[in-house]
Amino acid sequence: MADRQNLPETGQDRDQLDFSVRLMEQLVVPTFVIDAECRVIIWNRACERLTGIKASEVIGTREHWRGFYAEPRPCLADLVAQGRTREIDALYVAHDQVGGDVASAQGRRAENWCVMPRMGTRLYLAIDAGPIYDQHGQVVAVVETLRDMTVQMEAQAELERLALRDGLTSVANRRSFDRSLNVEWRRASRESRTLSLLMVDVDYFKLYNDTYGHQGGDECLRRVAGAMSGVVKRSSDELARYGGEEFAILLPATDLRGAGVVAERIRGAVETLALPHARSQVARHVTVSVGAATMRATVQVEPTQLVGAADQALYCAKEQGRNRVAAVDFSD
Ligand code: GH3
Ligand code: MG
Ligand code: MG
Repeated sequence: MADRQNLPETGQDRDQLDFSVRLMEQLVVPTFVIDAECRVIIWNRACERLTGIKASEVIGTREHWRGFYAEPRPCLADLVAQGRTREIDALYVAHDQVGGDVASAQGRRAENWCVMPRMGTRLYLAIDAGPIYDQHGQVVAVVETLRDMTVQMEAQAELERLALRDGLTSVANRRSFDRSLNVEWRRASRESRTLSLLMVDVDYFKLYNDTYGHQGGDECLRRVAGAMSGVVKRSSDELARYGGEEFAILLPATDLRGAGVVAERIRGAVETLALPHARSQVARHVTVSVGAATMRATVQVEPTQLVGAADQALYCAKEQGRNRVAAVDFSD
């Protein structure tokens, strides 16, 4: 449907315009058009299907945002029509200028999660807004086309999630840990803060595998990871499977005293699981040893030094008899 009152009325122009409007109405791509005053003049069928809003409800109004958002806010077409393109950055999760020919020099492309109030669905839309000029170079209308990218976006997010998760235990994997360690080390260097790391290793795990089989061993690792997840609660902390039966827990902005508290909770949580381990030399159930290290991060020092220090502490915990926490402090 289109608001013909706002369109030219005479002769051949009118015929061509009628054809263009019909074309746009039938286009399979969801499309709407606003005039220079941001009133809707075309709202095509595909746009009706996408938003659940009939053309008759929005034509002649500035209410097109209702199709996409719960609260009033400008759509991309409004920003282009009003020359407010600087605001795009704050209102969209991704955006780009449409390059190329003169006609689309002011066109914009953006992407956003939209709440689609009428449909009750959340969609990730790719949006193009292209201005149409009169012979004096004035914007007379802006055409906004929309593409539903939700499926692709969700698939991409799932792939990213899988790439950073350990397949066996579902906690973060080594790649995720290495990434977080570098990010947090740089942040701590800038803020001249300490960073703590716990390295956790299951005691006599080779004997566990020998006794309960590899599948039993895998299930044990899942249970141990689950118990540790319950302890690591701060959103900035990261529990990761470092490799084999070793886990790492990164504790940003935490001193050695704090790290010691978390380490003891980790050790206790695994002990509380009370998973039988008939051949452990230290208890009747599965236990872990924990090495805790704290360092003041600087740009001159590589973050791998923190891993080395936590490893050293873990070695001490093993040497001292296992099922315990040992700590080294390099924060001074
Ligand atoms: P310690 O108390 O000194 O740590 O003794 P340990 O037996 O745990 O140490 P060691 O490093 O000798 O053995 C670790 C074992 O962990 C070796 C390997 O069989 C087992 N392991 C490593 N990764 C996995 C895994 O993904 N699944 C299972 N089931 N076992 C694993
Ligand atoms: Mg080990
Ligand atoms: Mg071990």
